Amino acid sequence: MLQQDLHIHTTYSTHDSAVVPEQTVALVTAVKHAEIVGISDHFDSLVDGHFEEYEREIRLAGLKVGVEVDGHAWAAEVVNYNVDYYIFHCRDQNADYHSLDKLLASGKPVIVAHPNMLDTNLNRIPPECLIEINNRYVWRTDWKQFYGPFKDHFKFVLSSDAHQPNWLGQAVAHYAAEQIGIQEHIVF
Ligand SMILES: [Zn+2]
Ligand SMILES: [Zn+2]
Repeated sequence: MLQQDLHIHTTYSTHDSAVVPEQTVALVTAVKHAEIVGISDHFDSLVDGHFEEYEREIRLAGLKVGVEVDGHAWAAEVVNYNVDYYIFHCRDQNADYHSLDKLLASGKPVIVAHPNMLDTNLNRIPPECLIEINNRYVWRTDWKQFYGPFKDHFKFVLSSDAHQPNWLGQAVAHYAAEQIGIQEHIVF
């Protein structure tokens, strides 16, 4: 069993076409592929009155409540919601870097999502942020070159970014982390 997986989508990510109808909170809970499981659906799919039901179902299942926040446009609003942690899309623009400070001020963990896919400049990320090694995306870029220089600057979190039941795994992320010499940080 994995130690943790905090980046998982479910059918609450209604605008994400990669999510299948079978990817429910109930199924993720039943599969129990990690000791600590967190659900992190897209915040922009939850703001239209769906967050309360989302939070209730996840807490009843005994899982952590996260959200994936798509950049600075959502940062001011998301801090008003009762989540346990944030997963943040930080594109290479000033407003996104500034949003990280806003999220960190909440005192909750802030995970920088798949930075290798968003051209995030890790030199501009506050050291309190957690950096994600994402099983869905890590292999798509030169991950050694991207993450290697920062391996002693940050704490790292490994994630599946599962959108379908058979994505509930982290084999590639663990391989990459091991090759770089990164040890996973357990958040909760
Ligand atoms: Zn993402
Ligand atoms: Zn995601």
